[in-house]
Amino acid sequence: MSTQDVLDQAVSALGGREALDAAVTETITATGWRRHPGWGTEPHKPEAVAEFAFTLVDEIGGPRYKLSLSAQTHLVPTELDYTEIGNGSTGHVKGIDFMFDPRPVDMAIPAWRVATRVRHFDLTSPLRLVRAMLVPGADVEANGHILTLRQAGRPDTHVHVDPRTGLPVRVETVEEHTPLGDATVAVLFEDYRRSGTVVVPFEVTITVDDVPVHQETRSGITVASTVLDDEFAVPEAEPVEASAAQMAFSQFSAEWILTYVYSGVRFYFDLQTKPLSDGPLDIAPGVKIVIGPSHNTLVVEMPDHTLAVESPLYGDYTSEALKQVKEAFPGKPLTEFVGTHFHYDHIGGIREFASNGGLTVYVGEPTAAFFENIFTRPYTVHPDTYATKPEPVTVKPVTDPVILPTADGGTLQIHRITSDHSDDMMIVYLSTAKIVFESDLWNPTPSMPRSGDQRGRLATQLYQEIVRLGLDVETVVGGHSGPDQTHAAPLAYLKTAAGL
Ligand SMILES: [Zn+2]
Repeated sequence: MSTQDVLDQAVSALGGREALDAAVTETITATGWRRHPGWGTEPHKPEAVAEFAFTLVDEIGGPRYKLSLSAQTHLVPTELDYTEIGNGSTGHVKGIDFMFDPRPVDMAIPAWRVATRVRHFDLTSPLRLVRAMLVPGADVEANGHILTLRQAGRPDTHVHVDPRTGLPVRVETVEEHTPLGDATVAVLFEDYRRSGTVVVPFEVTITVDDVPVHQETRSGITVASTVLDDEFAVPEAEPVEASAAQMAFSQFSAEWILTYVYSGVRFYFDLQTKPLSDGPLDIAPGVKIVIGPSHNTLVVEMPDHTLAVESPLYGDYTSEALKQVKEAFPGKPLTEFVGTHFHYDHIGGIREFASNGGLTVYVGEPTAAFFENIFTRPYTVHPDTYATKPEPVTVKPVTDPVILPTADGGTLQIHRITSDHSDDMMIVYLSTAKIVFESDLWNPTPSMPRSGDQRGRLATQLYQEIVRLGLDVETVVGGHSGPDQTHAAPLAYLKTAAGL
């Protein structure tokens, strides 16, 4: 069959050309859940991120939408409840969309946030997909019953048409999902039913490398033939500057970004591209920290080299952080690395550090194989430095404490600890500075916290492990900064947060 024949078959199955042309907006009401692969206690066990309900009104042939979403998140239990309007390169959000600060906002959103959403709506709506293929000049090609849509700035979109029914049943695209590189995102459409003039799916499932990450049951889908411009009006269209890199990120990592967004972390829309300060900050003699917008890297001076703890986020950020790591102790090459745990957001840029050459990586024994795999994966969607400059890496699984001499005559100690957060958790202790570095277990606060102010029991577990290990700690340094960019706090603050 020709491309036109397959497309005609799909158009006919969805309700016919006349009905599709007349459908200007669609309104979708749905409930569902989102899971996060590789963010649970072990790499192959997806973490429940949120249960959600939403009503979406979107312009089928355009970049305008109004999304009213409520969700119960799990990482930090929060009730998200917001309405987001996208209108081309501008947008607005009103309500609670951020788990770390669940106070209502009423603010403009950047173009790349709108673009990420639009990509997601395209992937999950047969009406939008087919409409895009019907645009004059659209780059569409059939291979059997798979229609491939090529759009500038996006990974190719492959739409599988059921030869028997003509209905689009599966959409596939390859995105970048840090730190594993190329990942196959598939959207499955099921339970097609007639709704007015069109035929639409009421069950939508998204998988990443065959792991289900998103399921929604649509209770209502209606189309309308007119568009109410008021529906998509943005209160104040203050432009938010968009870089080309941010716009590209929104398209090649759309579902990677949205997994964080469903968990209530809006900043993943942003593509962080560099640390907050121009250079690493001093913590103690021979100890520095690179402060990122959301994640930090500890840098320690060793006798003849430098050791770094954490390579956060993704290559675009870590390549800039690496410059600060390398300038922290001039003349001492970065040759050792510690990952506190396998969660993407703390080690996503590890390949950038590895491409520097000669890197030994210390990770908790349970995830050593996961880390080995990171260095063998294809990275074609958005090639990183390592893709073109692979270097040998030594992954050292940690079971018993690793004690390394530091430049100041003391030791750097890597300890495995027990934590609800992940099975491979480790902390780093510096004996001279009496510092412990940890990630995700407690974020340092600028003043004494309220007793028991912690996520689950994570602070309690951290404190108890410090005591069990007999570490003489004065200061806790965080992979995440707490309020007011506080990256370090006295041990007594942690003890109080732990409710002890
Ligand atoms: Zn984590």
